[in-house]
Amino acid sequence: MTSVDERFWSYVDKTNDCWLWTGAMDYGYGRFYLEKKHMRTHRLSLEWSLGRPIGSGLVVRHKCRNRNCVNPEHLEEGTQKENGQDKVRDGTSPRGTKNHKCKLTDQQVLAIRADSRTHKIIAAEYGISRTTVSYIKTGKNWGWLLNGFLSTEDEEDPRNCRQNWQPDQH
Ligand SMILES: [Zn+2]
Repeated sequence: MTSVDERFWSYVDKTNDCWLWTGAMDYGYGRFYLEKKHMRTHRLSLEWSLGRPIGSGLVVRHKCRNRNCVNPEHLEEGTQKENGQDKVRDGTSPRGTKNHKCKLTDQQVLAIRADSRTHKIIAAEYGISRTTVSYIKTGKNWGWLLNGFLSTEDEEDPRNCRQNWQPDQH
């Protein structure tokens, strides 16, 4: 007999950043059968990680925008309204939205991209999380910059980030 845990994680492919659900899916979201109900896998993963149910009326947002990711580090509780804003941001805002938590300049992003040291060392140097380093390197974040959209007018400003990263959360 296998536990629910074992059954769940046997469907998960843990990469260095996203943990990908490889089982059944609906609309791009993982699905898991538990206690006679179909559950959303990202929701279950966050609940287990928090050790409590998701707050009533709240949804689980993907900070990584990868709907089948179940890495609790990439998930957070949010309101329906925030979730709607994520979609607007993802779909219609190529340069992203203002985010004061983002501390990196274009030059720093490019320097991180070119830096061959370990993510841990780079993260410590820039005061950001290893996940952020990983995203910069794989181009998921700041993709607009890496694709040649380096702007000249606001080079010195803290970057407007595409995602709601919260540096130093680990
Ligand atoms: Zn993820």
